[in-house]
Amino acid sequence: MTAAAFDRRRFEVAYRARIDRIAALCRERGHSAVIATVGAEMPWLIGYQAMPLERITAAVVTGDGEARLVIPQLEAPRFRPLEGVEVLGWRDGEDPFRLVASMLPREGSVLVTEGTRAGWLFQLFSAAPSVRFSSAETLTAEVRAIKDEIEVRLLTLAAEAADRVAARLRDGEIPVIGRTEREVSAAIAAALLEEGHVKVNFAIVASGPNSASPHHEASDRVIGAGDILVTDFGGTFSAGGEPGYCSDITRTFAVGDPEPAGFFELYSTLQTAQEAAASGIRAGMSGSEADALAREPIAAAGYGDCFIHRLGHGIGLEEHEEPYLAPGEHSRLADGMAFSIEPGIYVQGRYGARIEDIAILSGGRALRLNHAPRDLVILSR
Ligand code: ZN
Ligand code: ZN
Repeated sequence: MTAAAFDRRRFEVAYRARIDRIAALCRERGHSAVIATVGAEMPWLIGYQAMPLERITAAVVTGDGEARLVIPQLEAPRFRPLEGVEVLGWRDGEDPFRLVASMLPREGSVLVTEGTRAGWLFQLFSAAPSVRFSSAETLTAEVRAIKDEIEVRLLTLAAEAADRVAARLRDGEIPVIGRTEREVSAAIAAALLEEGHVKVNFAIVASGPNSASPHHEASDRVIGAGDILVTDFGGTFSAGGEPGYCSDITRTFAVGDPEPAGFFELYSTLQTAQEAAASGIRAGMSGSEADALAREPIAAAGYGDCFIHRLGHGIGLEEHEEPYLAPGEHSRLADGMAFSIEPGIYVQGRYGARIEDIAILSGGRALRLNHAPRDLVILSR
């Protein structure tokens, strides 16, 4: 990957296309504007992540395609100029809500992103009393779920970096025997940064009976022979100082001897289920149908009650975003969507296992971005 692939100009073209898309959807659906504040929507739109402080920063995109950034004057130097985005700095003592309201029609429908603080919303209501405000989530989540070329590249690089950390665990380069979960978690976190992430988001290390808890927090338990070890980790990968994209991978290991009774059979069921989902997911399926691809073989093997979470979640600027692959999810998967495929089987009090890859729907099929081997290895270090 050459540096030119992440030239600022390419991001600028992507941001412009996203602004235009949001404006077009506003017109189509009868909304006057979208206001983005705290959350992933603003970085996605204009490449700027506002500081999550008490002073409001708001990107306002109106149906006519105009984009404006209302920003505390002291933070304005952090924003990299973007052609077509007018920057309006406000100083303490001025009213940023009246400034935002001045960009809106007197009446009509305006969408606001869901991370917006309640206190800011109340002030917006007062500043624009005849406007109908509602959540932007359905509109923005729908558009953000379809990744463009530059997003796919960043997700791919993030996945490759996570794969290299998984290889270090598999090869024993990150030893686990005799160390605590917390120590191994710290080693994984350090490796995520060494492999090119700018930030560590989580590093779950769950050993022995703890492996039956999907979101286990690394403890002082010492990892030893006969344990099952679930490692689930991810970070944020960015290029050119632009907002970063997330990695998320899970690999399960057996530690030394002996084999915990029945575990190999469980793991083989899990691997079959993960393959069934990865090879069977198609554009046009609902999230619920995709989930069933893995859930059915697990249930058929008698572990139906042990798969206690959804099959997957979307991923991008956020670790978890649309789409969701879960029972009851009726929205359809489409080309360009990125999501995890992560079935798990958990036997309380004994052990658990999960295999997780990030995939992108392309040409109607799921292409996995993670390639770290998924067969069960017995760690000897
Ligand atoms: Zn994960
Ligand atoms: Zn995940």
